[in-house]
Amino acid sequence: MDPNVEDRTPHCLLLPYPNQGHINPILQFAKRLSHTRRRIQITFILTKFLLKSTTAAAAAAEADISFRSISDGFDDGGRAHAKSFEEYTDRFELVGRETLTELLRELSDSGRPVDCVVYDPFIPWVLDVAKGFGLPAAAFFTQSCAVNSVYHQVYCGRLRPPLRENEVAVVAAELPPLKAEELPSFIEVHGSYPVVFEMIKSQFRNVEKADWIFVNTFYKLEEKIINSLSEFWPIKAIGPSIPSMCLDKRLQDDEDYGLSLFEPSLSVCLNWLDKHESKSVIYISFGSLVQLTIEQTQELSQALMILDKPFIWIVRKSEESKLPNNFPPENGLIVSWGPQLKVLGHDAIGCFITHCGWNSTLEALSLGVPMVAMPQWTDQNTNAKFVTDIWKVGVWAKKDCKGIVKSNVIIDCVEHVMEDGEEIRKNAIMWKEFAREAVDKGGSSDTNIEDFIITLKEKNEAK
Ligand code: UDP
Repeated sequence: MDPNVEDRTPHCLLLPYPNQGHINPILQFAKRLSHTRRRIQITFILTKFLLKSTTAAAAAAEADISFRSISDGFDDGGRAHAKSFEEYTDRFELVGRETLTELLRELSDSGRPVDCVVYDPFIPWVLDVAKGFGLPAAAFFTQSCAVNSVYHQVYCGRLRPPLRENEVAVVAAELPPLKAEELPSFIEVHGSYPVVFEMIKSQFRNVEKADWIFVNTFYKLEEKIINSLSEFWPIKAIGPSIPSMCLDKRLQDDEDYGLSLFEPSLSVCLNWLDKHESKSVIYISFGSLVQLTIEQTQELSQALMILDKPFIWIVRKSEESKLPNNFPPENGLIVSWGPQLKVLGHDAIGCFITHCGWNSTLEALSLGVPMVAMPQWTDQNTNAKFVTDIWKVGVWAKKDCKGIVKSNVIIDCVEHVMEDGEEIRKNAIMWKEFAREAVDKGGSSDTNIEDFIITLKEKNEAK
């Protein structure tokens, strides 16, 4: 290639918060930028600990992405080695700022200067560092627009927890009225996880300095909210940010996220699923962070025993001891981590019992799988509200007054989704099609990504 042409190829640095649910969508976005005909050079940043302990190299080779690292101050063990979440957050900011500054200098000195930084607003100091270098920057929100809108109202002081008993909050005109249990857990249970809530609010502390605001959602899914937020933010929906082979299939080798913090039991799950009839299996996962109580684990186990339907349940190693003795029964498979996209995309799956993490929700929507929502904390309540009442692709298995979803409730919900819920299954297929359209050539998300690339190229050519 003509070296002068190569020189003008924009170089984008992307930096997610270091957990699975944040890395996945930002890495997918990087792949879309890198694979396009109007190519962008990509440097994807992980913490030093994650870079040495994951399969990043494989993802790099596949997608032509250069992986580099900065330090979060815990190079030998990551967040698990911090005494508290507060210590982790403070140290990450301190050491992260320094090491990101060094990296940006090094890239510039080595003739690969960065032209744009895409950062995760969970680490808002990245935007300050980028602006210190005079760089354009894009915030990449990994939650839904509805959830961003709620958190923003709290940040601005327009929604002040605690709510009064039975209060239905009219949070913003673009949102449906929300009961306490439908708001993020930090608002529902005022004072819970204060350090995490502070981090979530701090997403907005400098966001007005961002040149773009990307959200992992798509226009049709949150049209009214996107329109409303667009009045004061340069907001662009670019999702669902999941592998292309689950949606538009334009990136032929893009079948999986390609960077897993846990080892998935790929062939065990797929061989097992191959032996089951169409739409007969329940898939259960609570993502990478949720820890169910022993009581909740036992209620769910009992429900699965009584339902007597085949199931795959993701139970991380740290959660295994909560399962009853002699579990799973013969018709069940328990693995500590699975290839979720391949499982959800398998014809044998009939229903997804999910914590409604935003990635899992978007994945189920994109693959047309009806859901039983069992939200546990953070934004999951609000995602469950939209899954059940707005998009109508699932039912919500509600907690009792002690905060437990009883086995009979789980059984009713699963039976409804798998046996009676024709409307739900029809809606699931409809949203699957809308999701594909959004990222396919000329779709709303594809157009937003293309506009971003064109702007970066124009800026570079004007330099
Ligand atoms: N996931 C996976 N295998 C599993 C369980 C989860 O690959 O066995 C992936 C899932 O596809 C999703 C991510 O982990 O992309 C979890 O993100 P989510 O936002 O749903 O939940 P979180 O882990 O952040 O609570």
